[in-house]
Parts: sequence; C-alpha cells; structure tokens
Amino acid sequence: MTSREQRIADFIEPLRVDPGSKVRLAKDFDPAFRGTVHSKKKGRQLLSEGTELLAEYQAKLYAQHTHGVLVVLQALDAGGKDGTIRHVMTGVNPQGVDVHGFKVPSSEELDHDYLWRYGLQLPERGKIAIFNRSHYEEVLVVRVHPELLERQHLPRSARGKGVWRRRFHEINEWERTLSRNGTKIVKLFLNLSNEEQRIRFLRRIDLPDHNWKFSAADVREREYWDSYQRAFSKMLSNTSTRWAPWYVIPADRKWYARIAAAAVIANALIELDPRFPTIDSDARRRLLKIKETLEAQSPAGAAPDPFEAG
Ligand code: AMP
Ligand code: MG
Repeated sequence: MTSREQRIADFIEPLRVDPGSKVRLAKDFDPAFRGTVHSKKKGRQLLSEGTELLAEYQAKLYAQHTHGVLVVLQALDAGGKDGTIRHVMTGVNPQGVDVHGFKVPSSEELDHDYLWRYGLQLPERGKIAIFNRSHYEEVLVVRVHPELLERQHLPRSARGKGVWRRRFHEINEWERTLSRNGTKIVKLFLNLSNEEQRIRFLRRIDLPDHNWKFSAADVREREYWDSYQRAFSKMLSNTSTRWAPWYVIPADRKWYARIAAAAVIANALIELDPRFPTIDSDARRRLLKIKETLEAQSPAGAAPDPFEAG
C-alpha cells in the first residue's frame, strides 16, 4: 500500500460501523467530528487528492469490466446528499457513473416485492451507480410511517411481527449475493445534527435561489426526528456486514462530509484494485502485424508512426 492509500484507510477507520456492534447514534457518532482535519484549507487539499484517486481508479474499473460499485447514500433531509454527489464525482468520467434518486414508490413499484425497483438500477460491471436514497428507505421512512407498509399490499405473514428483523436479514443476504458476484457495496450515512438541519432549512427559506429546495413536508418530517434517530440506529446495528459495512459520515460541516465520502469510496476502489487488462503474447504479435500494415500506408513524407516518432 502506498502512503496515500494508507492515509485514506486510516482516515475512514473511525467512521466504520463494526459489524455486529450495537449503535446508538446520538452517543456513538458526533455529526461535528472532524478527526485530525482541523481546517477547511487542509480539507480542500485532501478532497482533491481523493477525487483524483477516484478518477484514476474509475478508469481502471471501467476497463477491467469485472466489478460494479454501488454507492448507497442515506441521510435525513438537508443532510447534503446532492452536494456530496456533485463534489465527490468531480473528475470522474460521466460515462462510468449513473445516479438514481428514489422517491415515493409508484403503484407499479408497489405491486412488486420491496427490493424490485432497487434491483433494476444496480451497476453494470465496470460502472459506479449512486443510489440517492435506497432500499434502506424500506426500513427507515416505512418504519417511521407504518401506513406506508400498509400500502405495499403484503401478505399477512410479511407484515406482521418481526417484519423489520426479517427485512434486515433479507437485505443483508441480498447484498451478500451481489457482493459475491462482483458488486462492491459502499454504504454512507450522512449524520446531521438537529440544530444543523434547522439552520439549513432556514437558509433555504432566506436565500431566494434556494427556495426551490425548501419543502414544508421536510419540516413536518422533522417532527419525527427521534423516531428517525431510532430507525437509523437499528439500521446501522443490523445491516453493517463484513461484505457491506456502513460508514457514518459526520455531516454538520459540508466540506468535511465531502472529503469523508470521497475517502470511503476511494478506499473501496483501492480494495477492489482494478487493473487495465493486458494481452497475451499471441495477441501482441497480432497487433504488431497490424501496426506494420498501418505503417506501410503512410503518405510520402509522413512518419510511418508519428506516435512512436514523437
Ligand atoms: P427527495 O429525495 O427530497 O426528493 O424526496 C423523496 C421522498 O420520497 C422522501 O420524502 C422519501 O422519504 C420518499 N421515499 C423514498 N423512498 C420511499 C419508500 N420506499 N417508501 C416511501 N417513501 C419513500
Ligand atoms: Mg426532500
């Protein structure tokens, strides 16, 4: 491991939820945490290092065409998901990335099992897919508002007692299958404090250019703060696995959240270690034969292979 890669691994270590550990968000994770990165200036440098590394590895991921990367982004409203996606993916080839936002499910979606619509958007080999909200809404918003579960037309056995425990298990198994078959799963929870959410809502009201982002429904949702904190804590406790661990991203400082998110995604790519495909000696000989043909076609006065000459 190079020192750059080691720095990234060390940086994200305190953000990981150990598989099997019991999380109480308020006690275990500080939304204002910034580790050893004390200044925004130092942060900026780290972020550009992280996004550079992402671009580098993404090119190899694409060329190798073996693994896909699924980035799951969860947060409370105003947690900074959109800005994180924008900043973290700077410099990455847009052809290699797909972003999917998941909203209130349509009636077609409700007529299928709860994982169906997420399965349709998984990354192809070689690509990164970002889920802006994800299958985890099925154990978050649906848990906080039980009437949403009613709308899913489930058989009695799938909605009765133990439904959340079963869903945790089903999600873990689904993710295990995906990861065994080439999908690397990176899960980020942007952890915002109640006070910072209040300030961000006010900002959306005060700045005219941000009014479009403001939703009265978000402020109503804020009344369920404690229920969400409990639902997030249970989600983190039950679905951080060896094959797909959760990372809790301190989100009160946007600049820190972006570095941390970039670092976690970069680390996943480092673990995958994709390589540009190489060719065997037979294929190499065939290429050299074609090279000769192309060189023979050079017009008078032109270098047979200007690339080689330069
Ligand atoms: P936004 O991301 O702000 O555009 O809002 C999307 C809305 O869709 C949020 O209020 C989510 O809670 C809601 N939503 C996302 N997934 C689900 C789901 N599976 N069931 C119910 N509501 C959902
Ligand atoms: Mg919203």
